[in-house]
Amino acid sequence: MTLFLRLLFRNKLAGFGAVVLGVIVVLAVLTPILPLQPPNETNTADRFLRPLQGGHLLGTDHLGRDLLSRLMWGTRLSLAVGFAAALVAGLVGAAIGVVAGYFGGRTDNVTMRGVDMLMAFPYILLALAIVAVLGPGLLNALIAVAVVNIPFFARNIRGVTVGIAHREFIDAAKLAGMGHTRILLSEVVPNIVPVVVIAMSTTIGWMILETAGLSFLGLGSQPPQADLGSMLGEARSALITAPHTSVVPGVMILLIVMSVNLLGDGIRDALDPRLRSGALARPMATTRVERAGAPMPKPEDGLLQIDDLETQFHVGTRVYKAVNKVSLALNPGECLGLVGESGSGKSVTALSVMGLVASPPGVITGGAVHLQGQDLIGAPYELLRTLRGRKVAYIFQDPLSTLHPLYRIGDQLIEAIRVHDPVSHAQAHRRAVKLLEDVRIPNAGARARAYPHELSGGMRQRVGIAMALANDPDIIIADEPTTALDVTVQAQILALLSDLRRDRGLAILFITHDFGVVGQLCDRVAVMYGGRIVEAGPTGDVLTAPAHPYTKRLIACVPELGGGQRALAAIPGLPPAVDNLPEGCAFAPRCDKAQPSCKTGEIDLTGDTRKVRCLFPEVAL
Ligand code: ADP
Ligand code: MG
Repeated sequence: MTLFLRLLFRNKLAGFGAVVLGVIVVLAVLTPILPLQPPNETNTADRFLRPLQGGHLLGTDHLGRDLLSRLMWGTRLSLAVGFAAALVAGLVGAAIGVVAGYFGGRTDNVTMRGVDMLMAFPYILLALAIVAVLGPGLLNALIAVAVVNIPFFARNIRGVTVGIAHREFIDAAKLAGMGHTRILLSEVVPNIVPVVVIAMSTTIGWMILETAGLSFLGLGSQPPQADLGSMLGEARSALITAPHTSVVPGVMILLIVMSVNLLGDGIRDALDPRLRSGALARPMATTRVERAGAPMPKPEDGLLQIDDLETQFHVGTRVYKAVNKVSLALNPGECLGLVGESGSGKSVTALSVMGLVASPPGVITGGAVHLQGQDLIGAPYELLRTLRGRKVAYIFQDPLSTLHPLYRIGDQLIEAIRVHDPVSHAQAHRRAVKLLEDVRIPNAGARARAYPHELSGGMRQRVGIAMALANDPDIIIADEPTTALDVTVQAQILALLSDLRRDRGLAILFITHDFGVVGQLCDRVAVMYGGRIVEAGPTGDVLTAPAHPYTKRLIACVPELGGGQRALAAIPGLPPAVDNLPEGCAFAPRCDKAQPSCKTGEIDLTGDTRKVRCLFPEVAL
């Protein structure tokens, strides 16, 4: 709740709306006990008094009634009717939408066609017709406004429900033997409540206006009862001679509708979980850089050189040190493995290279990334854009979510080619087919016309690799490319990457949590834990004689085919949260060799070709 309020007030306009509306609502609630004059007492001797005349703060109307009092009572009524109409329309509309969307088929058809019939009439005419049938009066105006708004809610909510009704957690609830009513109430409804609240908060203002409109036409509140619309209606004839009688209710309507709409926008933003961490608020084209101190010296050689890279996530007052002074070097044609448990900062390291970490909340706070001698941290977006995909390409874990579901894979490849190389469509197509052949997709010409969902997981990952190869990059950063695949397909993909590396002289930064995979592909390996490199060295050496206890235990987790029976070791405990890292070695709490000295001070990465960050390494380096 406090988070919600904080998010809401982060939007200044929404905060302003909340304050204005709050004041108005409090005044409206307190109206009966405020020292106001009776709202309906006429005194024709005091007609059309100006504000502040004769003891009337806002003056009087054409019957000499106190405008302030009528304004307060009218506001009270208008707010009540507007909120009630929104509530009725929201609840009934949502109920129709949920039922139609969940059951689908004939239920959906019948109810939605009924809703469509309501929608077929012009909005305000329908409201007028309903009041004409029911007779004038505030309650009937409320019913009319609610009814004409039901289709809006029903359509909206049905759409959302259809999306939810086929999700796995609904299937799971059905498998668990839950009845329809329970599934609707406990699984579907909680998911649509935010949508209903958002739709309501953005339409209440509109409904207050509609009710005022009906009252203005004399179809809503009946004399002498005041609401904002009827006050405007009665003041219409004196618009020129006594303008204050119209201005007073007019300003109130303006204030209410404006504050409701501002607040509604704020509520929508605060309720959307994707906006919460600021992820979608104002995504920047490159990661934000806040680097203190002098720039790093330029390295002499090397293809990609990462020096003391620090990437953090700033969420509220919390600082997540996802990447903490990481240094890596990648030479042409080399494959470097980056290994670590989930959450150790591998992906963030990889994404930082091309400034792809989402900002906010990501910030690069230190270090340098040199690509062929050029510092990429803080480089202008235009430069990064020409390098992304052309010099450094990425392969991600789940190709189904990185490929566009609605485009044929050939077209997606063509697009990737033409971003950097303005060749003709036919030429790009030929290259796309060639790429598909290069990644050993059989019958590539025909496959180019397939959609991503028509391919198997392994095929899709091959397409992902083909796309990374599209512009002949020097470096491929592969972020767990085989994690979603089964072991046989994984072996094929690894063999493919290995061949491509040989044929094209590619350098690969290969991210994985599996030491088995590292052994097959990588020349060197770096082990990450809690955002830091804890060990690095040639793969063979590290695999045969791991120096850091963490590396040793990670290697022990890999099952060996034909290795006989042995209990597979697991590492007890959980990786540390990077917003609150312990002092000393981050692994110490889980390490059975930890000494008191491991938990104090800074422990350095020592060694030359083989490096380790441990006071008591398993082997002497
Ligand atoms: P992995 O090694 O599994 O690829 P990541 O690099 O994705 O791990 O994440 C490293 C750390 O960064 C995680 O501990 C996570 O808590 C933190 N992190 C990642 N994204 C965000 C984010 N948007 N906001 C806050 N923390 C994040
Ligand atoms: Mg990752």
